[in-house]
Amino acid sequence: MRVPAPDKRFFRGQIRKFYARSGRHFKWRREADPYRVLITEILLKKTTAKKVETIYDRFFAEYSGWGDLMSAKPRDLRRDLRHLGLQKQRTKALGKLAQVLRIKHGNKVPSTYDGLVSLPGVGRYTANAVLCFAYGEPRPVVDVNVARVLQRFFGLPPTRDVNRDEPLWELAKQLLPKGHFKEHNFGIIDFAARICGAVRLKCVECGLAPRCAYFTTGHGANNKNS
Ligand code: SF4
Repeated sequence: MRVPAPDKRFFRGQIRKFYARSGRHFKWRREADPYRVLITEILLKKTTAKKVETIYDRFFAEYSGWGDLMSAKPRDLRRDLRHLGLQKQRTKALGKLAQVLRIKHGNKVPSTYDGLVSLPGVGRYTANAVLCFAYGEPRPVVDVNVARVLQRFFGLPPTRDVNRDEPLWELAKQLLPKGHFKEHNFGIIDFAARICGAVRLKCVECGLAPRCAYFTTGHGANNKNS
């Protein structure tokens, strides 16, 4: 899908304004250390940012590098991850990741897409997040929430598997600005959380509304939360 330049500019501009005004400023967003960025992305899976925020400082004080994760007792890791839920799975996943990083990559997080997706538990979203937030590459990050915003605004059908939706990723790539692409990605993530929720939509206060396909075709107006 080729997006007309004015629509791209409008979308980017509104996301930029929204992020400047209402973006969330989590500690990890100021972080560019690949170890911390990768681990944080893994911690953020299947939980809320608020919960990760609660354990963030303590966790990285205890596990400041791959060596600490490798030598950690599973019982201790489970205890330290309990607040996020799924602590058994997370403990296993982090242990496996630390092992592969040590054996195959000399404790260095790969800086290529192929290297990242070859790691256990690292898929398209996480690989792009590490490349963008740690290595400063202009990469889109698309999870189900970001996908929802793009699909509503551009009038695309919902998708079953976001990771395999090539047109959606291509669209997200086209929308990246030349600079400040980290903030752009954070902005869409926060916009999805605060304005264009799965159930709660705030269309009447949404800066994207004038050109949003979902809203201008009457859907948003019918939502009781709009
Ligand atoms: S107008 Fe409504 S549906 Fe469209 S982007 Fe804004 S909140 Fe989402």
